[in-house]
Amino acid sequence: MSELHISQKIFDAIRAHGEETYPHECCGVLLGHSTGNGWRVDDAVRADNRRTDSAHNRYMIAPLELVKIQRQAAQQGLDIAGFYHSHPDHPAQWSPTDFAEAHWIGCCYVITAIAKGKAEVTNSFFLAGTTEEDKRFEQETITVAD
Ligand SMILES: [Zn+2]
Repeated sequence: MSELHISQKIFDAIRAHGEETYPHECCGVLLGHSTGNGWRVDDAVRADNRRTDSAHNRYMIAPLELVKIQRQAAQQGLDIAGFYHSHPDHPAQWSPTDFAEAHWIGCCYVITAIAKGKAEVTNSFFLAGTTEEDKRFEQETITVAD
């Protein structure tokens, strides 16, 4: 099983983001280093949820915004480790839409359940596989440390 290493500060920040945007989904990008068995997250960048049509149960990061985030990350020597979003009043499990729209194989997808405005469970799913055809989400361990 892969492992996601994240600092308490960043972990709290992505959960707080979900509380702030409730009842809409929040979304953002996780930056860090590959550990060979997952990722170490060094930064989290907030993104605008562009799904104004259905922001309570969908999220989308604009491609241009993602390119900008990726460029800035590269300047700091960081890679895109994955993405995070929230599930307002839904469990912290990936949805069929989350899976269909996940294309970053080898990256992690972090989901926080927000119940009535309060962050509850946070889970991370590693997108394993080699192609769109054999990709799959594998739940991974989140290690929160200072
Ligand atoms: Zn989702």
